[in-house]
Formats: sequence, structure tokens, C-alpha cells
Amino acid sequence: NSVRRFATTAARAATAETVNTYGIRVSQAQGVVDTLVGAIGNTPLIKLKKLSAETGCNILGKAEFQNPGGSIKDRAALYVVKDAEERGLLKPGGTVVEGTAGNTGIGLAHVCRAKGYKLVIYMPNTQSQGKIDLLRLLGAEVYPVPAVAWENSENYNWQAKRHAERLQKEDPEHGAVWTNQFDNIANRRAHIETTGPEIWAQTIGKVDAFTCATGTGGTLAGVTRFLKDVSDGRVKSFLADPPGSVLHSYISSGGQLKERSGGSITEGIGQGRVTDNLENEVKELDGSLFISDEKSIAMVYRCLDEEGLYLGASSALNVVAAKEVAEKLGPNHTVVTMLCDGAYRYADRLFSDKWLQSKNLRQAIPKHLEKYIVL
Ligand code: PMP
Repeated sequence: NSVRRFATTAARAATAETVNTYGIRVSQAQGVVDTLVGAIGNTPLIKLKKLSAETGCNILGKAEFQNPGGSIKDRAALYVVKDAEERGLLKPGGTVVEGTAGNTGIGLAHVCRAKGYKLVIYMPNTQSQGKIDLLRLLGAEVYPVPAVAWENSENYNWQAKRHAERLQKEDPEHGAVWTNQFDNIANRRAHIETTGPEIWAQTIGKVDAFTCATGTGGTLAGVTRFLKDVSDGRVKSFLADPPGSVLHSYISSGGQLKERSGGSITEGIGQGRVTDNLENEVKELDGSLFISDEKSIAMVYRCLDEEGLYLGASSALNVVAAKEVAEKLGPNHTVVTMLCDGAYRYADRLFSDKWLQSKNLRQAIPKHLEKYIVL
């Protein structure tokens, strides 16, 4: 009897509604979702307490590291696969082919396993064995190929495209598709239909600005499109760009595209061209911020120390950008950004003394945070 009483109380608590910090009623339990893909999205929006206090604003980070594959790219992975299904390009037992070295591959691997598709991944052979092992463990067939530029027909993306065309010819009954995350606008749609509306609902429309970096541009373009539409243009949106990317100068010069040069420690972001996902959306932006690697790495350490958030460098760059946007807008504004993934896949670099020195970033870590350099 006491067990039954306890269970009843627990069940009531789990299904109860509460009122969040914005006065919005939220259910504590989501209920049953249909396979792993049902667990993608609906991530919490976390208030960063120290940076919010410092700026007098609400600085909120969307916890994309909580997706099943551990990153924001699960959303795009699900949408490019759903798009291929809806267009009849992919049937049960079919194959997804993609060129990716990172989070998109992991997202696709989870989605393809859950939906019963095969997955083939092409990546530059400069990538770590750890990434290859993880993708193979998740059931993907992986081809590391020579790291040559986009303009070269042997680039990993073009090899992926040709592989899909070959499979499609051999086995049209099941279908094979090159999901092409950079120029497939189903990627942007994931953020118009899920990320943007979630941010709007979670802040009950009280969001004033959004900022994030781009790899494919799907997140920035999609969230910006939704927030601009739903607020009649009131919500401001800013690109955050790392060293080596051409987009910051492209936006601040009013459309001049420079040659890409140099790189950044922020894996997964930075771009050398205007992708189809960004096309037509760049003009919607209210500006752009260049964020140095020194600022990004220091923020990785700050977020860990002050918020307990274990973030990858692209997330830290986004947080720096959100802080700078908050400072620009002044107190009492709400600024949202994306926490794209955790530090797990990068820990051997981000917290290594040797690696920091090799990147000339050792001196960017504030004295009181040096205790986190443990590797
Ligand atoms: N952060 C990380 C860690 C990523 O892997 C990516 C995607 N490459 C991004 C940010 C950028 O997202 P998007 O492709 O939507 O521009």
C-alpha cells in the first residue's frame, strides 16, 4: 500500500505542470516519444547567471548538447532524411551518403540506425581515428579520402555525391541519397520549424536578439527567418564569426567575398562561401561580430567555472557573441544563443597545456582558471 501511495505521488509529480521563470506553464514530463528521433530537439534554454548579472540582460543558451547525438546537428540530420523520404528518394533499406567530418555524421548515424537506413560517410583523411571509430561503431561505412579543396572533383563532398549516384543506379528500388547539408535547405527548415519556435515559446516572445556562428548556415538562417517573421522584424539577429571565415567581412563590407585564409580552434564553424542555406537570409541580419580564438577559449573555461557548462569551442564563441550583443543593446534585454555541443569530443585539446601552447592560446586563459588545464 505504501509503495502504491509513493508511486501515485511520484506519477502526479512527474506529470504536473509548473510555471517557468517566464511565467509560462510547462509540463515536467514529455511522455513517450516514437523512437530516438522523437528525442531530438525540445532542448532547455539555460540562463547563464554570471554573464546575465554582469550585463543586466538575460543571456540564454539553448542546450543542444542534450540531443541524442550530442549536438545541434541532430536536427538537420533528421530533416534532410525526412526530406529525402518525403520526396520519394529514400525507401526502407535505402542508403544515405554524406560528406562530413563531424557532428552531422554522428547525427545521421543515430537517425539512420533508428529509421533502418544504411549510412556512408566520406571525410578528409586528416580527421582523428576517434571520429572514424565512433561513426563505424554507430554502423556507418566510412571512407577517409585525401583532403583536397571544394573546387577539386576529388573533394569528399563530390565523392559522396558520386557514391550516392552509383548506388541509386544499382539499386533504385531502395534508393540512395546524397543529403548535402551545405546546400540542402531542408537543413535550414529544421530550424525554421523547430529551433526558432522553441525559442519563441520558451521566452514567450520576450526575446530581443539572437546570435550564433555558422558552418552550413542552417541554424543562423533558419532561426533568424522564424524570429524575424514571428516578431515582424523586431528581434535582431547577428552572425558570430571565427578567424578564417569570410562571412564577417562579407557582411560588414556589404557583399564583398574575400578568399578564405587561416583557421580557428572552433571546429564545425567558419565558412568560405555563401551556402544555399544562407542565401537570401544574409540580408536579414542586423550585423556581424568577429570573435577571436583568445576570447572563445577563455569562455570555454569561464562557462565551466561559473556555470558548470562543459562546452565545445563553437558554443563558447556563441556565448562571447551573446555577451557582446547584450552590451551593445544595454540592460534589460534578452539575448539567445546556441550551445551547439559539449567539450567531450575536444577535451584532449581544449584542456591540454601542450595544445594551448601550440596554438599560442596558453596566455588567453585567465590565471584563476588555470586549474582546469589538466591534460
Ligand atoms: N557548432 C558545431 C560544433 C558544429 O558541428 C556545427 C555544424 N558544423 C555548427 C556549430 C554550425 O551549425 P550550422 O551547420 O547549422 O551552421
